[in-house]
Amino acid sequence: MNKKLCPCQSKRSYIDCCEKYHLGKKKPQNAKDLMRSRFCAYALSLSDYIIKTSHPKNACFQKDLKTLKEDILRFCKDTSFENLEILDFIEEKEKAFVTFIAYLKAAKKDLTFTEISHFEKQNGKWLYKDGQLFEGIRRDL
Ligand SMILES: [Zn+2]
Repeated sequence: MNKKLCPCQSKRSYIDCCEKYHLGKKKPQNAKDLMRSRFCAYALSLSDYIIKTSHPKNACFQKDLKTLKEDILRFCKDTSFENLEILDFIEEKEKAFVTFIAYLKAAKKDLTFTEISHFEKQNGKWLYKDGQLFEGIRRDL
């Protein structure tokens, strides 16, 4: 069977890691797992999962769904998702913050960025609300 490593860099196999979230069999228990599964979904071009796990107030929904989906798929296709490093994770009752470095490349160009992601819980489900992005590797945030 497919024992390839999960693109979220957990060092576990995909079937033991993010697949259950992507298939909707289970929901991530915390925002950190959701963040990992979203990174993984980008790496696997699973645009529906990205959309489904975004908060309705996320700015991405200013576009119509078809355009949004096309944009996500284009980004996924043009980008290689090389590594993920989680630096910090703060969880409160209804909101959470995950600071991470996403190591990305597109057409040999380094697109690595650091982000402080903001998540909110809605009906028991963690959703990606928005994020503060910083170019390159930032460990001083
Ligand atoms: Zn994973």
